[in-house]
Formats: sequence, structure tokens, C-alpha cells
Amino acid sequence: MDVLILGNDLLRQKAVPVENLKDNLSQWQETAGNMFATLKAQNGVGLAGPQVGLMRRIFVVKVDGDEPRVFINPSIVETSQETVKYEEGCLSIPGNWADVVRPRTVKVQAWNERGRVFTLEAGGLLARVILHEYDHLDGVLFIDRLPELKRNRILDKIAKRVKA
Ligand code: ZN
Repeated sequence: MDVLILGNDLLRQKAVPVENLKDNLSQWQETAGNMFATLKAQNGVGLAGPQVGLMRRIFVVKVDGDEPRVFINPSIVETSQETVKYEEGCLSIPGNWADVVRPRTVKVQAWNERGRVFTLEAGGLLARVILHEYDHLDGVLFIDRLPELKRNRILDKIAKRVKA
């Protein structure tokens, strides 16, 4: 799968729910498999549908020391009041990293590629990636969560690279 890069309109659109998941499990298993392969090829830790032009509410996560996880039609049940700052990047905004403030922990409910609903409480890098990927489903990118100055610095850098 090709990963879309900042500037592509699809990255800014809201993805719609996956319908009839249970009737199409093999199709979604194949899609998740392709997403994991893309993630691995790009050395990423998370990939959301819109990043590969798939406007459905699905994302996959694979962080070191944890199993690969598929989230279909996820909802954020709860996030901690406590926040933490951590450096993020994005496969759709290559070559740029910045500290983003997010909740320290998250409780998320979703369906997996076997059609089973699950609830997961996560902290650390896993929470970070889940919140980052969930944002993608709503057309939100990590640079949107930066102070304006920092965001503009990244956008300027990208604009210069496009020109060059
Ligand atoms: Zn991203």
C-alpha cells in the first residue's frame, strides 16, 4: 500500500465506520495484513486507514514488545486527566518529529479482525500510538496538536522541500 503524504486531501477527511464486519471478516483480515506489511516496510508503529486512502475506521498498531493489534470502529472510552509530552512523527509527514502533549493513558473499545469486540487500557507508547492513530480517523494530524509556531516551522520546512 502507498502511504499518503501531507497535502493529500484524504488525510483531512473523516473516515466512516466499517459496516457488516462479521460478513466480511476475510476481507478485513487481508486489509489488516496489508496494513501491517506497509507498517513494517516503513518502520512505523501505527497506520490508519486514511493514510492508505482507505476511508474506513480502522487502524493497526505494532509497538516493540507487544502483539500486533487491529482496531476496527474504535471508540475512546476514557483518557487520563494527566497528560504527558512525547516526541511523535508520522508516516504521512516524513522527516518531522515534535513533542506532542496527550493523555498519559487511554481506555479504548474496538473490534478486532476476528470480529470480536475488546476493551483495552493502555499507557506508555501504546497509548500514544492509539491516540495518534485514532486522530487520523477524524482527519486530525499530530501537527494540529502543536503550538502554532512549531506547526508553522514544520509546514515551512515541508513547503521549502516541495519547492526544491
Ligand atoms: Zn500518523
